[in-house]
Amino acid sequence: MTPRLRSLLAVLLISTPTLVGAQAVLDIRNDFYFPTDAVDRVAERVYKTRTRELAESARLDVDATLLARLRGVLAALKVGARFEHAQSATVDWEIHTCRRCGENASAMAGGRLLVGEEFVNELALSDAELAYVLAHEMAHVLAEHSREFASAARYFVDNGRHRDYQDIQNELSESFVVNLRMAAVSAQQEIEADYIGFILGARSGYEPYAMLSLLAKLNGELTDSAAMNPVGQKRISQAQAMLETARRIRAVKVSALH
Ligand SMILES: [Zn+2]
Repeated sequence: MTPRLRSLLAVLLISTPTLVGAQAVLDIRNDFYFPTDAVDRVAERVYKTRTRELAESARLDVDATLLARLRGVLAALKVGARFEHAQSATVDWEIHTCRRCGENASAMAGGRLLVGEEFVNELALSDAELAYVLAHEMAHVLAEHSREFASAARYFVDNGRHRDYQDIQNELSESFVVNLRMAAVSAQQEIEADYIGFILGARSGYEPYAMLSLLAKLNGELTDSAAMNPVGQKRISQAQAMLETARRIRAVKVSALH
């Protein structure tokens, strides 16, 4: 045995207790009815139109410092995402900020993200809190929630099983009643995005407690308009239950796993 191999083995043995978090945790299903490319095509068109309109009114990427922060966080999260879900390497992520756009943070199918400047500033989000915001949005993309939502909506709209993706989307954007019927699916997707996002953030090296401080800030904001809703309470209790696991995942550096 060469000295190099011996020292490698020694390092492995010493680090073994931390390997509890060394395997990918996520198993994301993607067997939904509508094809991914149909969903991505519509999302791309909507995102392009929205960002073009924001650019024309000088409200896109105004705060260059914030945009650079977000891009740095996104680059770190991509590493954790690739480890947890190999298919994420094929996502062409794009991120922009906007001003006076009524946006907190959103994700569209295909990896298109948009973050409101006022949202980040008013909540004074740290880099780690920002990471858990973006990780939650990336989770919506990786779990293909738009595709899942529209596939499920086929059972909640008239003649839904004979309508195409764009048609279902039109119905969703116009019908309050259909969205009401879909509220349980919507709530479930938020809980799932938190679960996946928490793992992605921790895997990418961000202190998991920031997920809890982020949710506290978000719920503080929500209580202005309404009492904390059951989904908000469920998000907090899930994050509390996951905290120690997330810390174990974070303890294993992704860079050491490649
Ligand atoms: Zn969400």
